Amino acid sequence: MNKPIRVRFAPSPTGFLHVGGVRTALFNYLFAKANGGKFILRLEDTDRERFVEEGVMQIIESLDWLGLRPDEGVWLEELEGEHGPYVQSKRLNHYSSYANDMIKSGQAYYSRTSPEQLEALKAEAVLAKRPFVYNYAMEPDFGSDSDTKGLPIRLKVPEGSTNWTDEVRGSFDTKNVLIDDFIIIKADGYPTYNFANVIDDHLMNISHVIRGDEFISSTAKHALLYDMLGLSRPAWVHLPPILGPDGTKKLSKRDGDVNVLDYKAKGYLPEALLNFLSQLGWNDGTTQEIFSPEELIAKFSIERIQKSPAVFDAQRLDWMNGEYLRNKLTEEEFIEHIKPYIPAGWLEDPDYFKSVLRLDRDRIKRLDEAKYIMEIFFETPIIDKQLLHKKDDASTVAGWIAKTIAALEGNQFTHDSIEATLREIAAEMKVGAGQYFYVLRVALTGRTEAPGLFDIFSTLGRDESLKRLKAVI
Ligand code: GLU
Repeated sequence: MNKPIRVRFAPSPTGFLHVGGVRTALFNYLFAKANGGKFILRLEDTDRERFVEEGVMQIIESLDWLGLRPDEGVWLEELEGEHGPYVQSKRLNHYSSYANDMIKSGQAYYSRTSPEQLEALKAEAVLAKRPFVYNYAMEPDFGSDSDTKGLPIRLKVPEGSTNWTDEVRGSFDTKNVLIDDFIIIKADGYPTYNFANVIDDHLMNISHVIRGDEFISSTAKHALLYDMLGLSRPAWVHLPPILGPDGTKKLSKRDGDVNVLDYKAKGYLPEALLNFLSQLGWNDGTTQEIFSPEELIAKFSIERIQKSPAVFDAQRLDWMNGEYLRNKLTEEEFIEHIKPYIPAGWLEDPDYFKSVLRLDRDRIKRLDEAKYIMEIFFETPIIDKQLLHKKDDASTVAGWIAKTIAALEGNQFTHDSIEATLREIAAEMKVGAGQYFYVLRVALTGRTEAPGLFDIFSTLGRDESLKRLKAVI
């Protein structure tokens, strides 16, 4: 009998949502959609010291921007779902009820070691060069004291060993003597991650746990808990790590942006970012690089998740974003997208704006680049004299520009007519076209890079072009 597919993304609101977290959310989402299942958003907020209030909104806002809307769980508005609440701090009754049952059956106990005793035990282990594994035998004798207030509860790990299988990595086998009697309920009454995670995955009928591979080392504990509680285990799917561009260390802040909302601010399209993230640890077995969300859903499968680490190649993301900006948006859509990134005044003359956009659109890889790339057509440039006189002195340059102004006064001012005139002037003056055009480009725009010179002239129009050239003289 197959369980209905139910997966969850279970972030801890400890700050912003990391792009690696989004990759996890995306794989959960794709797997749910590919199999007619449910995608659930659960907040794991039982580590009260690391809890950040704004973290909750950051997670929701990030997933909302990317279109990764859950079917059940925490969201902007109330979502349907019979397994709530979906925030762990509101589920304490469930955890304590399971923990109390485990105490009654002898599977768990109140632990009375003081922090000092614990430190001493750890130091002993270090001296003896053995790993520190806490177990019941280390509990101090507390005689007839039955007051358990403020005491943490530990699992009494049984003898034997714990096997579990990961759908990507294969099987793992851990001897239970290596698993410490870990805390399941802390002194503050909140459950630990390891405990709450298992109880909730069970109560929420989670069929597949899809998460980052940093949780592999905790999974034996989870498997053991399922067994001790007599609950059926979910399938485990651990995703390969995402490494920074040098391919050695995990992607971190030092490698650039890791907060998803920074990608939003910089003008990446959500579709492009999702497409990029979908290929960090998964591929469809072909060389296709751009997938629509529907294609991703149709093609996604756990079998094609790779074991080896993925490398976060920011240049590839930029390239993909450029592809989306160039090919996946109509001109009108493009304009809607760049509006927040440019001064509103630029759109006063929509036809002029569009003529500029047609020249520049292919060079915009991120929406936040649009302002710099396009501004030469909207603002009077500041001309750097050194740039202008890089090769030729001031009087030579002034002479060329004066000649250009005179010749262009009566020009038709199309791309081709401008080109013909300027080439004639270059030949007549016996200067290399490259050298001459360089000076004109700097005089018109203050810059040395694209777009093409004749396009700049014809787009700016006669009045503005000649005004700029005169100002330079
Ligand atoms: N709360 C954990 C995290 O922040 C979730 C781990 C899991 O998915 O089991 O990543």
